[in-house]
Amino acid sequence: MDGGLVMTGIVIAIDGPAGTGKSTVAREVARRLKLSYFDTGATYRVGTLWCLREGVDLTNKDDVAAMVATMNVQLVMNPDNPSIVLDGEDVSRLIRSDTVALSVSKVATNLDARAILGQWQKDVIAAEREGGYSEGRGVVAEGRDITTIIAPDADVRVLMTADEDVRVARRAGEGADAATVREAVLGRDKQDATVVEFHTAADGVVTVDTTDLTIEEAVQAVLTLAKQSS
Ligand code: C5P
Repeated sequence: MDGGLVMTGIVIAIDGPAGTGKSTVAREVARRLKLSYFDTGATYRVGTLWCLREGVDLTNKDDVAAMVATMNVQLVMNPDNPSIVLDGEDVSRLIRSDTVALSVSKVATNLDARAILGQWQKDVIAAEREGGYSEGRGVVAEGRDITTIIAPDADVRVLMTADEDVRVARRAGEGADAATVREAVLGRDKQDATVVEFHTAADGVVTVDTTDLTIEEAVQAVLTLAKQSS
């Protein structure tokens, strides 16, 4: 907990591209405030995995939308152990595979699939505001369009940014080829940016540039905004 601060029905929305630290920060803020942690990217990733498993052609927009509308998924929103269950199987690791990462933009740029997944995300946020895993304390939701489309009325709205080179470096794992990582990170951003704006803050959205911040400093920046809003 953070100084005994107890929230009621708070929604903290954090958007931004890959490598800004938003997932790590969102999780840590949720942990400290005892809120649910909602990784909305996981909904696009699980939709992609489901379509790949079922052999759906990802360029067939109608088939993809029909598939994501019927998938059987449960979210575990505990920030200490967030997970996602597809048809009874924990697929939390599988959705992070390169195969899924390379295809996810095809689902995310399908506007019909976005509408279905977006409505699901809105329902999850509303449920966490009232009860759910957080017992009504609230939720930290992170993604690309949470501050603008999914929860524009959130109590705290943050856009996380960081210099491109820093973002790529953060994503480059031990021994990974920097050029490949650059292509993967920036290529996905480019695809995603065709349907959602996540490089420029909308009105009322606070930009937190993490280029020169430690994780703890970025966490404190969001906690300060949460305190100010309560
Ligand atoms: O955040 P993460 O990298 O897991 O997101 C995976 C993908 O899901 C993104 O590349 C993007 O295509 C999509 N996404 C989105 N809108 C969100 C969250 C994620 O389009 N709110």
